[in-house]
Amino acid sequence: MHPSDHLENWFQGQGHWASTPPGQWQSWAWQLQNRLTSPAHFERHLTLSGEERQGFRHAANRLSVAITPYFFNLVDPADPECPIRRQVVPRGAEALVSPGESPDPIGEEAASPVPGLVHRYPDRVLLMATNQCAGYCRYCTRGRLVSNAADHHFLPRHEQALDYIRRHEEVRDVLLSGGDPLLLPDSRLDELLGALRAIPHVEFLRIGTRVPGFLPQRVTPALCGVLRKHGPVWLSLHFNHPRECTREAREATERLALAGCPMGSQSVLLRGVNDDAQTLRSLFHRLLMMRVHPYYLYACDCITGSAHLRVPVSRGIELIRSLRGHTTGYAVPQFVIDAPGGGGKVPVNPGYIAESGPGERTVVRSYRGTLHEYPG
Ligand SMILES: *Cc1c(COP(=O)(O)O)cnc(C)c1O
Repeated sequence: MHPSDHLENWFQGQGHWASTPPGQWQSWAWQLQNRLTSPAHFERHLTLSGEERQGFRHAANRLSVAITPYFFNLVDPADPECPIRRQVVPRGAEALVSPGESPDPIGEEAASPVPGLVHRYPDRVLLMATNQCAGYCRYCTRGRLVSNAADHHFLPRHEQALDYIRRHEEVRDVLLSGGDPLLLPDSRLDELLGALRAIPHVEFLRIGTRVPGFLPQRVTPALCGVLRKHGPVWLSLHFNHPRECTREAREATERLALAGCPMGSQSVLLRGVNDDAQTLRSLFHRLLMMRVHPYYLYACDCITGSAHLRVPVSRGIELIRSLRGHTTGYAVPQFVIDAPGGGGKVPVNPGYIAESGPGERTVVRSYRGTLHEYPG
């Protein structure tokens, strides 16, 4: 077990980069400039398997490889199956196409009235603010648009999306996603949030981001100032493994909380990463201590080349059952499938109703398995 898997041990350190001046290490620009992107970068610190080398060759026309030195530091170089490594280092299996997989698994293109905007639900839209991320998750549902690996040249043009939202008064909730919106320059984010706040019918603003996990250095006082200025801005943070909950990440979420941002998390259930009860429990407990409420646990989208990372839905339900009632309710996210073909997020829950008649009585099963009758 990695030392930081213990809940009380909040990992902090520069590891392989111990000789880098702390001032540089703390600079998000330095972290971005020094991202590991090629096999040679990785081979300085660990030995890539044949499977991984093959993955790098394929990544060039699928989804770029990039991770910050900060995030790489969480990889255990001695463990080829390290749960951090599996999320960001490509494998040859990404070239396999399995049944049901597609490059746009949740049908976003069909629900996109203007480029870079998805309008799937009655009162809210998703706006892709940028095509860049601090790092690239190998199971990315939007690999077709982000990172520009295959020269797809998706360059979000905010004006068209803003016009659409201005014209659609039913849109009261705008989710900025991407790419990672927190990679925009402060001034650009300020303008975008300002433009949205100027639309009278838009009341709820939120940002989906993995920056606190990949690049906590980006959460500067200036960025927090922008979020505070346009607040409340809710944040959905992406964390998958307790080891990602480092002291730096905790300090970043603390700054965000003090800037008035309510925070939820979105995690993806991934094979060999977090598909066991102890890892999930530890992840959700840590998130609570970081002031983050676990919001959604996703079944991994059926993106092309993701079969090696997906977990059966039945296993996900079993894992949720092992949490509900056994630990703090706040620590149990909603398990969802983002429905293939564009049905939106569908909750999938363990069943707790043992018997129900028409109006007379309902028999429920408790988390311990005991049966209880409710008269109605
Ligand atoms: C996930 C998502 C939302 C937000 O859904 P909530 O259940 O409100 O968190 C909105 N639009 C799109 C297209 C989404 O994928």
